[in-house]
Amino acid sequence: MNEFFYKLGKKASKTYQATKEKAVKLSEELKIRGKINEHKEKIIKTYKEIGEIVYNEIKKDNDVSKDDVISKCEDISRANDEISKLEAQLLALKKVKKCIECGAELDINSEFCSKCGRKQPVTEKVEVKEEPKDTKEAEVIEINNVEDNEEGNNK
Ligand SMILES: [Zn+2]
Repeated sequence: MNEFFYKLGKKASKTYQATKEKAVKLSEELKIRGKINEHKEKIIKTYKEIGEIVYNEIKKDNDVSKDDVISKCEDISRANDEISKLEAQLLALKKVKKCIECGAELDINSEFCSKCGRKQPVTEKVEVKEEPKDTKEAEVIEINNVEDNEEGNNK
Protein backbone atom coordinates (compact mmCIF):
# COMPACT_ATOMS: atom_id res chain seq x y z
CA MET A 1 0.00 0.00 0.00
CA ASN A 2 2.74 2.41 1.01
CA GLU A 3 4.67 1.29 -2.02
CA PHE A 4 1.62 2.10 -4.12
CA PHE A 5 1.29 5.62 -2.74
CA TYR A 6 5.01 6.11 -3.03
CA LYS A 7 4.96 5.15 -6.68
CA LEU A 8 1.82 7.19 -7.28
CA GLY A 9 3.43 10.20 -5.67
CA LYS A 10 6.54 9.75 -7.70
CA LYS A 11 4.57 9.36 -10.90
CA ALA A 12 2.43 12.41 -10.16
CA SER A 13 5.54 14.41 -9.45
CA LYS A 14 7.13 13.27 -12.69
CA THR A 15 4.00 14.04 -14.70
CA TYR A 16 3.73 17.38 -13.00
CA GLN A 17 7.33 18.20 -13.82
CA ALA A 18 6.99 17.07 -17.43
CA THR A 19 3.90 19.23 -17.85
CA LYS A 20 5.62 22.13 -16.16
CA GLU A 21 8.67 21.70 -18.37
CA LYS A 22 6.46 21.66 -21.45
CA ALA A 23 4.66 24.80 -20.32
CA VAL A 24 7.94 26.59 -19.60
CA LYS A 25 9.27 25.52 -22.99
CA LEU A 26 6.14 26.71 -24.73
CA SER A 27 6.14 30.08 -23.02
CA GLU A 28 9.84 30.45 -23.81
CA GLU A 29 9.10 29.61 -27.45
CA LEU A 30 6.31 32.18 -27.57
CA LYS A 31 8.58 34.78 -26.02
CA ILE A 32 11.25 34.16 -28.66
CA ARG A 33 8.69 34.20 -31.47
CA GLY A 34 7.34 37.49 -30.12
CA LYS A 35 10.83 39.00 -30.17
CA ILE A 36 11.40 37.77 -33.73
CA ASN A 37 8.15 39.42 -34.80
CA GLU A 38 9.16 42.67 -33.12
CA HIS A 39 12.41 42.71 -35.08
CA LYS A 40 10.57 41.90 -38.32
CA GLU A 41 8.17 44.78 -37.76
CA LYS A 42 11.09 47.07 -36.99
CA ILE A 43 12.72 46.06 -40.27
CA ILE A 44 9.56 46.83 -42.26
CA LYS A 45 9.25 50.18 -40.49
CA THR A 46 12.89 51.01 -41.21
CA TYR A 47 12.53 50.12 -44.91
CA LYS A 48 9.62 52.56 -45.03
CA GLU A 49 11.70 55.26 -43.38
CA ILE A 50 14.52 54.72 -45.85
CA GLY A 51 11.99 54.93 -48.68
CA GLU A 52 10.65 58.19 -47.31
CA ILE A 53 14.12 59.71 -46.99
CA VAL A 54 15.00 58.70 -50.56
CA TYR A 55 11.66 59.92 -51.90
CA ASN A 56 11.91 63.31 -50.21
CA GLU A 57 15.44 63.89 -51.49
CA ILE A 58 14.55 62.86 -55.04
CA LYS A 59 11.45 65.04 -54.91
CA LYS A 60 13.62 68.02 -53.97
CA ASP A 61 15.86 67.02 -56.88
CA ASN A 62 18.70 66.20 -54.47
CA ASP A 63 21.12 63.33 -54.71
CA VAL A 64 20.65 60.69 -52.06
CA SER A 65 23.91 60.06 -50.27
CA LYS A 66 24.94 57.01 -48.32
CA ASP A 67 25.13 59.16 -45.20
CA ASP A 68 21.40 59.84 -45.42
CA VAL A 69 20.45 56.22 -44.99
CA ILE A 70 23.47 54.40 -43.56
CA SER A 71 22.27 54.36 -39.95
CA LYS A 72 18.89 52.99 -41.02
CA CYS A 73 20.61 50.29 -43.08
CA GLU A 74 22.69 49.35 -40.06
CA ASP A 75 19.51 49.10 -38.00
CA ILE A 76 18.15 46.57 -40.47
CA SER A 77 21.36 44.51 -40.42
CA ARG A 78 21.35 44.51 -36.63
CA ALA A 79 17.73 43.39 -36.52
CA ASN A 80 18.50 40.58 -39.00
CA ASP A 81 21.40 39.43 -36.81
CA GLU A 82 19.11 39.37 -33.79
CA ILE A 83 16.54 37.34 -35.72
CA SER A 84 19.20 34.76 -36.68
CA LYS A 85 20.26 34.44 -33.04
CA LEU A 86 16.66 34.07 -31.87
CA GLU A 87 15.94 31.45 -34.53
CA ALA A 88 18.98 29.48 -33.35
CA GLN A 89 17.64 29.69 -29.79
CA LEU A 90 14.29 28.43 -31.01
CA LEU A 91 15.88 25.41 -32.69
CA ALA A 92 17.94 24.63 -29.59
CA LEU A 93 14.83 24.87 -27.45
CA LYS A 94 13.02 22.38 -29.66
CA LYS A 95 16.20 20.24 -29.64
CA VAL A 96 16.36 20.31 -33.43
CA LYS A 97 18.74 21.72 -35.99
CA LYS A 98 18.42 22.43 -39.66
CA CYS A 99 20.21 20.46 -42.34
CA ILE A 100 22.97 22.60 -43.81
CA GLU A 101 22.07 21.29 -47.26
CA CYS A 102 18.28 21.10 -47.57
CA GLY A 103 17.07 22.84 -44.40
CA ALA A 104 15.13 19.84 -43.09
CA GLU A 105 14.57 19.81 -39.32
CA LEU A 106 16.76 17.18 -37.71
CA ASP A 107 17.31 15.93 -34.20
CA ILE A 108 20.00 18.02 -32.53
CA ASN A 109 22.34 15.00 -32.37
CA SER A 110 21.87 13.77 -35.96
CA GLU A 111 25.09 13.24 -37.82
CA PHE A 112 23.39 12.87 -41.17
CA CYS A 113 20.29 14.40 -42.71
CA SER A 114 17.42 11.91 -42.85
CA LYS A 115 16.12 13.62 -45.97
CA CYS A 116 19.12 14.27 -48.20
CA GLY A 117 21.82 12.29 -46.39
CA ARG A 118 24.22 15.23 -46.08
CA LYS A 119 26.72 14.88 -43.22
CA GLN A 120 26.09 17.53 -40.58
CA PRO A 121 28.81 19.56 -38.88
CA VAL A 122 29.47 18.96 -35.19
CA THR A 123 26.83 20.90 -33.32
CA GLU A 124 28.13 23.82 -31.38
CA LYS A 125 26.31 24.45 -28.18
CA VAL A 126 23.72 27.15 -28.54
CA GLU A 127 23.04 29.15 -25.42
CA VAL A 128 19.46 28.76 -24.32
CA LYS A 129 18.20 31.16 -21.74
CA GLU A 130 17.64 29.52 -18.38
CA GLU A 131 14.08 29.24 -17.23
CA PRO A 132 13.06 31.82 -14.64
CA LYS A 133 14.47 31.15 -11.18
CA ASP A 134 11.12 31.25 -9.38
CA THR A 135 9.86 28.34 -11.52
CA LYS A 136 12.78 26.18 -10.45
CA GLU A 137 12.18 26.95 -6.80
CA ALA A 138 8.54 26.02 -7.19
CA GLU A 139 9.58 22.65 -8.59
CA VAL A 140 11.97 21.97 -5.72
CA ILE A 141 9.25 22.73 -3.22
CA GLU A 142 6.94 20.33 -5.01
CA ILE A 143 9.48 17.51 -4.89
CA ASN A 144 10.10 18.07 -1.18
CA ASN A 145 6.38 17.87 -0.49
CA VAL A 146 6.13 14.53 -2.24
CA GLU A 147 9.02 13.11 -0.20
CA ASP A 148 7.51 14.40 3.04
CA ASN A 149 4.22 12.69 2.26
CA GLU A 150 6.00 9.47 1.52
CA GLU A 151 7.75 9.52 4.91
CA GLY A 152 4.44 10.11 6.57
CA ASN A 153 2.94 7.10 4.88
CA ASN A 154 5.73 4.83 6.06
CA LYS A 155 5.16 5.69 9.73
ZN1 LIG B 1 19.21 17.59 -45.82
